[in-house]
Amino acid sequence: MNRRLPRSIQWAAHLDFRGLTALIVTCLMISYPSATWADQVTGPPKPPLAREVFQPLKESLQLSYLELFNQAATLEFSPPQIELMRKYLKEARGYCTKQWNQKIDAYERDLYTAQAELKQRTANLSRDERKQFHCRIQNLRIQKGDAEMLVRQAIPIAYENRLAKLDVIEKWPAEKQKIEEEKRSGVYRQRRYGDVEDIGFRDVGRGQEKDIKVGRETVRQMKLAGLMPREVKNEAVQRYVTKLERKIAAHSDLRVPVQVTVLDSKEINAFALPGGFVFVQRGLLEAVEDESQLAGVLAHETAHAAARHGHRLMKRATIASVIYQAAEIGAMVLTGGVASIGAYYALQYGFYGLGMVLSLQMLGVSRECELEADQLGIQYAWNAGYDPTGFIRFFDKMATREGYVQGLSWFRTHPPFYQRMVDAEREISFLPKKENLVRQTPAFEQMKKELAKVTAQAKEDEQGRPSLLAPEQGCPAPPKVGFKPGERRIETVCPLPEY
Ligand SMILES: [Zn+2]
Repeated sequence: MNRRLPRSIQWAAHLDFRGLTALIVTCLMISYPSATWADQVTGPPKPPLAREVFQPLKESLQLSYLELFNQAATLEFSPPQIELMRKYLKEARGYCTKQWNQKIDAYERDLYTAQAELKQRTANLSRDERKQFHCRIQNLRIQKGDAEMLVRQAIPIAYENRLAKLDVIEKWPAEKQKIEEEKRSGVYRQRRYGDVEDIGFRDVGRGQEKDIKVGRETVRQMKLAGLMPREVKNEAVQRYVTKLERKIAAHSDLRVPVQVTVLDSKEINAFALPGGFVFVQRGLLEAVEDESQLAGVLAHETAHAAARHGHRLMKRATIASVIYQAAEIGAMVLTGGVASIGAYYALQYGFYGLGMVLSLQMLGVSRECELEADQLGIQYAWNAGYDPTGFIRFFDKMATREGYVQGLSWFRTHPPFYQRMVDAEREISFLPKKENLVRQTPAFEQMKKELAKVTAQAKEDEQGRPSLLAPEQGCPAPPKVGFKPGERRIETVCPLPEY
């Protein structure tokens, strides 16, 4: 299996290059209609409920998951009202997507016009005029890429979160009663992985050692393809994260040694490849607020490795499809073409965006595996002495407060859905009570101080670095697409209409 990996990369990269060429040729042949996008947009769907109901329900959808868990029982919306809101949200998602697709078409048309005009006038342009043309084309490309990112990633995520929160409002009160009942009767002890006193001694992920080869080979292939960001060159940060991950692994069902690497990329994410290769990105360390949040994320990733989710999901996938996306990005970077959303995102923000390119099968991400990794991760964090709400609090922060740009990678590899939030709450409430569970430590705060130095250095390095996206220096910044400065919340991408 491993011997076939390099050939698959070559095959996929080759295929993609041909696809890219075909795409460019096709683009040149299309002639665009002259109407602007604004003419074609039909109005947004009308709120389906009276203002006194619609407004508070809409506001509840802005609450964090944890706030909703606390408040759901006091909210008085009827099932038909919730059903109408659900239907409305789906219509609004369609409307929003359509609007942005039309904007993408408009950018594409403007780009085509600008390039045609440049071609026509190129022989007679002054230096200043040429620069203006280059800036216009460059900025249109950036705006089009931003709009594509919205349509393919941010809008679906924003609506998935809203729909999941609507589910919490509707179903959580009954679910909560059921949980209380299961606790009273003691049946909760019969749940899957209910034997939490035996973590590390029970039969979870038998054959883990067989994954080491696959993990090592994947890391090698990623490095060969130029897909692995460089490591953070700060001993103290690497040491801190390694120590924390080893502590969690020692309190988990993982029976192979972990190898921890902190990558110098601003992406907010962490991964475990099969066989215990854990990668933590600088952006995650910047985003977590206390040690229990970081412990929660690490424990979740450790659970994927322990339960052998990558192995489980790769059985159903061909090797070519497993690394196809990574190869695609490699091809984009090499050819300078910016045709896929992943590549665009990666280039625009100065990193390859591992969360956008790594195969979900390889990372063991599916609905079923996420639920299992959430449950086991919560158990491992708890078993290592941490407040087990860390993961869910961090997830909530991403869903509620982080910008959509920063959240894309995270939500691609940790998809939001109702069952996930509910099952996490359920598991936390079933764990035996422990005294002195840790949320924050001085070591975490010390790490943050060291990290600030790394971040400052990275920002400095970024400046003046040649960019495929902005080869023309000194252009005015393009207008931001989809959000106002300082307002990058994932929930504001498509504002729901006011009354
Ligand atoms: Zn996961």
